Amino acid sequence: MDFEFSEDERQFLREVDQFLEENRNPKVMDVTRENMAQICDTPERRAFMRMLAAKGWLGISWPKDCGGQDGSGFYEYLLNEKLSAVGAPQIGKGVGIVGKTLIRVGSEKLKREFLPQILAGTVEFAVGYSEPSAGSDSAAMRLKAERRGDGWVLNGQKSFTTSAHFADWYWVGARTDFQAPKHHGITLFLVRMDDPGLTITPMYTMGNERTNGVFFDNVFVHDDYRVGELNKGFQYIAEALDIERFTMFTFSPIRGRVELLCNHVRDAKRDGKAMKDDPVIRQKVAQLATECEVARLLGVRFVVAACDAAKTPTVQASEYKLYATELSRRLADATMDIVGPGAQLALATEDAPLKGRAESCYTYTVIDTIGGGSSEIQKNIIAKRKFDLPKNF
Ligand SMILES: Cc1cc2nc3c(=O)[nH]c(=O)nc-3n(C[C@H](O)[C@H](O)[C@H](O)COP(=O)(O)OP(=O)(O)OC[C@H]3O[C@@H](n4cnc5c(N)ncnc54)[C@H](O)[C@@H]3O)c2cc1C
Repeated sequence: MDFEFSEDERQFLREVDQFLEENRNPKVMDVTRENMAQICDTPERRAFMRMLAAKGWLGISWPKDCGGQDGSGFYEYLLNEKLSAVGAPQIGKGVGIVGKTLIRVGSEKLKREFLPQILAGTVEFAVGYSEPSAGSDSAAMRLKAERRGDGWVLNGQKSFTTSAHFADWYWVGARTDFQAPKHHGITLFLVRMDDPGLTITPMYTMGNERTNGVFFDNVFVHDDYRVGELNKGFQYIAEALDIERFTMFTFSPIRGRVELLCNHVRDAKRDGKAMKDDPVIRQKVAQLATECEVARLLGVRFVVAACDAAKTPTVQASEYKLYATELSRRLADATMDIVGPGAQLALATEDAPLKGRAESCYTYTVIDTIGGGSSEIQKNIIAKRKFDLPKNF
């Protein structure tokens, strides 16, 4: 067993480091947006995505006949970790969720239309599963799709669609059969985000980032834009969620937050005494740093398993997501305690300790334990799939 990266992997990491150094731009790289830094919501960030495309870094693990390189998904993992470490947008949604699902189940028309755009970094997607009464239980979604002529008419509502206000296309699940058991009556569609029947309203998170409510009023979708088989949408969504649980919650920002705290402890004073001399604080930091290493290894274990297996390893995805995002929250709590009352000062406040990051991590890391399936849902998945215990939903 070898825990070290290979020479090729190290060479790739050096190349990515050099690229990031040469293209340093605060409008593109902003760690203070915490996990929301991954989205591609400004012209500068979209231009950056096209630069990643020009490097050949989108679709590394896609098959060659789909424009990819038949490479190992490990390189995509390494790339995303490097990108998230500097707060740059990441490659998860288009390349992973949409691209990989289209490659598996999409029609030739959809592949021809969307795969080249994803590879070129010229298209952005919003993902619409959640609804006001269908969050954790996304199979309960009720957005209605009714057959009309050569297509479908969609009516209803989605909630928490993160990228709806800037995306080009909506990757959306809708109910096509109200009589079938809930997991078997859902179909996936691709809908143009500028369709006049869509109304998009902002929903702001505790971390002050925008997600959206989306309302459908007689939105017509041609059957050509149905993804995969009728009523199989939930199966595709569940498989894509396993990818999301891993790719959307990278490890590097957690390590960055541990380093931030360590640097503060190294330099700060409390009641006139150096913080680094306080044994309780030292122990706390050491404990968190150790847990951080556990999160990293759970991540690597998932990627190694995912690269070897035909199917994404569900349990490992949930174990990583649960552990990493809950650790992130514990780390944010500890940072608040250790830094003291000044930790409540927000980003951009003059003289705020840690430049306000303690506050932004505290409000933001809660969100990571909810998006992509809450911690309770991850525990349910592990209990059911790893130990075959009964499920409660
Ligand atoms: C910042 C952010 C961005 C998001 N972006 C998107 C997006 O782009 N697209 C999208 O489709 N969705 C998105 N979501 C939605 C996200 O997937 C849901 O919020 C999440 O699945 C939880 O659903 P809910 O908010 O309806 O909470 P609920 O499902 O109502 O859950 C409420 C509480 O009950 C617990 N709970 C629920 N069911 C069970 C159970 N069976 N057992 C034990 N506990 C349970 C939950 O853990 C939670 O603590 C986003 C959410 C956030 C916060």
